[in-house]
Amino acid sequence: HAKQRENSTCPYTQTMRHGLQRRQVMSERLSAAINEHKLKLYFQPQVDLISGRLTGAEALCRWYDAELGWVSPCEFIPLAEECGLIRMHGDWLLTEAARQLSVWQTGNTPLPGRLSVNLSAQQFADPHLTAHIARLTAGVPPSAIGLELTESEFMRDPDQAVEITHTMRRAGYLLAIDDFGTGYSSLAYLRRFAADTLKIDISFVREMLENKNDRTIVKTIIAMAQALEMKTVAEGVETPEQARLLAEMGCNEAQGYWFGHPLPADEFAAAWLTP
Ligand code: C2E
Ligand code: CA
Ligand code: CA
Ligand code: CA
Repeated sequence: HAKQRENSTCPYTQTMRHGLQRRQVMSERLSAAINEHKLKLYFQPQVDLISGRLTGAEALCRWYDAELGWVSPCEFIPLAEECGLIRMHGDWLLTEAARQLSVWQTGNTPLPGRLSVNLSAQQFADPHLTAHIARLTAGVPPSAIGLELTESEFMRDPDQAVEITHTMRRAGYLLAIDDFGTGYSSLAYLRRFAADTLKIDISFVREMLENKNDRTIVKTIIAMAQALEMKTVAEGVETPEQARLLAEMGCNEAQGYWFGHPLPADEFAAAWLTP
């Protein structure tokens, strides 16, 4: 009998239990923080499992509030979605990601590969999304930007997703299916989505050394990706043993604490980008 899986990388937030009051306070403060550009982007390295070289980074949002302290994106992103703030946040995220790419480029420490950003379902629902992204990131070549969307977001309206993904790819963006393995997509759709990358969900990587089922799932995802000529990126790689096994299995890239934690732009550049 299959074990219940967490649907995200975030631990269940106890604080959500405080319910309405915290959410009320939080949504007001979040709205102000987004308006005043008080959120920060952190950058986590992605590396090639064979050469160990940097292949890109994922931009992850951080919010520190004077009253609430650090709030996890697992809490504030869903809240932003519910409160109608996610578009504004998404616009800021894309603008900020493009700005940072340009800063690294002109400072002679360009980021190799792509900078990936997470899109939310509501952004994905915008029929003019691709043109919108192009406007916000003007000055940066589309091939330098990776768009990540979770498997469950793809599957909300798979036919529409097929169409949008093709528009994105035609415009030159790279596209990853995030948290893969948790969202019940069918092989038929997988083949039709114009995504170039599958990100293997952290929940399968976590116990892959101890748990034979998880190992089999990871192996199967990699085989499937290879058959569809897609690249695989494993998330949540925390040990050298996991990295070695993933490399043996033919996984292309990895992201996780073993290689590097998400860092603010200057620290990321100092650690990972060489002039
Ligand atoms: P995600 O896209 O699956 O991002 C990976 C998450 O795993 C990040 O959590 C990252 O910090 C964490 N992580 C990376 N390596 C390891 C590891 O080795 N072990 C463990 N245990 N965790 C690891 P984070 O930064 O808390 O973000 C959580 C989620 O919030 C992200 O999941 C993403 O879906 C969402 N998110 C973050 N920033 C944004 C944003 O600006 N916009 C949108 N729409 N979503 C965002
Ligand atoms: Ca996730
Ligand atoms: Ca992601
Ligand atoms: Ca993920």
